[in-house]
Amino acid sequence: MGELYANVIVDISHERVDRPFQYRVPEALRGKIQVGSPVSVPFGAGNRRRKAYVVELTDRAELDPAKIKAVAAVDENGFTAASQLISLAWWMKERYGSTMNQALKTVLPVKEKIRPVEKKTIRTDLPREELETLRREAERKHFRARERLFSALLDMGEVPFDLASGQLRITASTLKPMEEKGWIRVDRDQVYRNPISSLKASGVRVELNAEQRAAADAFKEDYRAGHPGTYLLYGITGSGKTEVYMEMMEEVLRDGRQVIVLIPEIALTYQTVMRFYRRFGNAVSVINSRLSRGERYDQFERARKGEIQVMIGPRSALFTPFENLGLIVIDEEQEGAYKSELAPRYHARETAARRAAMAGAGLVLGSATPSLEAYSRALRGEYRLLRLTERAKKDSRLAETEVVDLREELRSGNRSIFSRRLQELMEETLERKEQIMLFINRRGYSSFVSCRSCGEALKCPHCDVSLTLHRNGRLKCHYCGYEIPMPDRCPSCGSPYIAGFGTGTQKIEELTRKMFPQARVLRMDMDTTSRKGGHEEILAAFGDGEADILIGTQMIVKGHDFPRVTLVGVLAADLSLHAPDFACGERTFQILTQAAGRAGRGEHAGRVVIQTYMPEHYSIQAAASQDYEMFYEEEMSYRRMLHYPPAVGMLTIAASSPKEEVLIQAARGMREAAERVGTENMGEDVGQESGVRTSAEIIGPVDAPVYKVNDIYRKILYIKHENYDILLKIREQIEKLELPVLLGFDMQ
Ligand code: ADP
Ligand code: ZN
Ligand code: ZN
Repeated sequence: MGELYANVIVDISHERVDRPFQYRVPEALRGKIQVGSPVSVPFGAGNRRRKAYVVELTDRAELDPAKIKAVAAVDENGFTAASQLISLAWWMKERYGSTMNQALKTVLPVKEKIRPVEKKTIRTDLPREELETLRREAERKHFRARERLFSALLDMGEVPFDLASGQLRITASTLKPMEEKGWIRVDRDQVYRNPISSLKASGVRVELNAEQRAAADAFKEDYRAGHPGTYLLYGITGSGKTEVYMEMMEEVLRDGRQVIVLIPEIALTYQTVMRFYRRFGNAVSVINSRLSRGERYDQFERARKGEIQVMIGPRSALFTPFENLGLIVIDEEQEGAYKSELAPRYHARETAARRAAMAGAGLVLGSATPSLEAYSRALRGEYRLLRLTERAKKDSRLAETEVVDLREELRSGNRSIFSRRLQELMEETLERKEQIMLFINRRGYSSFVSCRSCGEALKCPHCDVSLTLHRNGRLKCHYCGYEIPMPDRCPSCGSPYIAGFGTGTQKIEELTRKMFPQARVLRMDMDTTSRKGGHEEILAAFGDGEADILIGTQMIVKGHDFPRVTLVGVLAADLSLHAPDFACGERTFQILTQAAGRAGRGEHAGRVVIQTYMPEHYSIQAAASQDYEMFYEEEMSYRRMLHYPPAVGMLTIAASSPKEEVLIQAARGMREAAERVGTENMGEDVGQESGVRTSAEIIGPVDAPVYKVNDIYRKILYIKHENYDILLKIREQIEKLELPVLLGFDMQ
């Protein structure tokens, strides 16, 4: 047998996890050692024993084998959170095709500066009445930060400093004068309170309805029986999914285990986070992308030491080093933000499943509009489906939705962005002093061309995705490279009213002010929220009734309860329908359903107006009738017919190089390798019913949407196959070619 070497990292929290050291694995330790194993190794000149973790096992010696020292011992029982995370990194590297170094940097928190972890809490000695008076005064004087802090103190009695500086965005310049006036004090606690006891102390909870109880019980029974699985909690907007998560979480926490809750950053608002704090008090910690790496590290340290039991955050919270993880919750599992844009381009859903399996933990995915991926798994029985079909609040009903055909509006001479019906409802709503949200669906927006007479967007005849208008006036398909000059007339109906589409939020704000001069208008988009905290400030102002109309992009449809909103207008539902992407129908449905879910959350009934050039499109129809099943059937048959995920697996390979010639050559080599593997594996599927692919379907290489960036050229190759393993083989073969270009892989 040849030699076996272990690459180990000696200090996992060190910046340079990319510096593994190589050791020989002695005969006696083989079979006992695996990726993630804690080992002890002789280190440095004095050969002092150090604890290390195995990050890779290989038969390749990196230096003269005679100079490689041997691993001293393996701690077989020492599997810790770090071990699990390192094994997870290994899996991510294999699954998503990154380097081990990139994967390690993703899963291990990196220490930046050493500082003591201390836990600060904001407290007050003032009686409630006085707090209330001060709060009102702050409100009157528009001291927003101050007001937020007083509200939180009234709400919770005391406020964890993390919450104040994070979600509440309270800075030292706000705290200092308040401290000086003796209103508050900031305590630095040395002894941490027992999280379980503060858990008991918290009171607020609602009585679950029958459906909620059944969902929570399904998990609890499996958990108690020792085999929690994966669940898809599919519940309409406002059906009370969060209450169900909290019920499940409580079971796990009571058992002494920990919980990770993933919430998309955009929905990680004060309102949302507060619900968890109220229920679980100091057991909770929150991370978000505004934290520095050092702050994030501190939070992870607290988790590792057992000082907190619940971590809430976006994607990266998945790597919280809890020693005894019992449950992972992923809210809004369909969100695109759960997929990393950087290598390893992991999907949090899959990676969470892996981590949960390692830890023996449960995984709960929640959504009002489950991803096709998750729902099809649930239908196949891989996930257990839990359903909530009704709104949780008794007086709250789903809004009534109307679809307005914008082609009709054009025909009857209305060229305004507001249909007559929407104008009418807006006037009525303003008269009743209720609130309106106007939503412009710019998600995945790109410059496609559509016809204002028939509503058709110009599409690629080969790929059925919208063509993108380039500056040179040509229309191009980003999947296959098909290209035509911009036509003068609509190819479907001959109308001359075709044009690039797109109206910005700013323009809409202008038009709204002009048409409803009496209304107070707020706008929320990238421009108005780029300032730190701008996003929450605008939402808070709207929530406080400081405006009648809120205009915004998809940012406004997430995670917020505005009881006074009774009208939601979707100005151009089709925008996202024409994104050059096979999943645009799915995203359109999701976003429209969420937008519709914003109306009528309080006691007044809500109305939704969806304006569209394509009222017959199933994504719009299904969203209008809140019919997820109908949407799922239509969309899945489209994916099956055109071979898109999740009907088939799709491997996307992006190659880039500053030398165009080299890139072209390499792309050709990639395609040949893919064809070779595809053909070699022809046999496996042959003999099945006709129509089944027998080999890989290869598209491209095509130029990337933006072909040249900073003098780097980029090409993309798509490979589709029903058998995921064959795609993995293809990827492996392409990696083995060691082409002189930079490769990025994505698997769906
Ligand atoms: P979802 O996450 O499914 O959109 P939420 O958990 O945010 O729903 O619940 C929507 C609203 O209904 C919240 O204000 C919540 O407090 C309330 N709610 C949830 N469950 C119940 C219940 N069983 N009884 C009364 N109100 C409830
Ligand atoms: Zn037309
Ligand atoms: Zn095409």
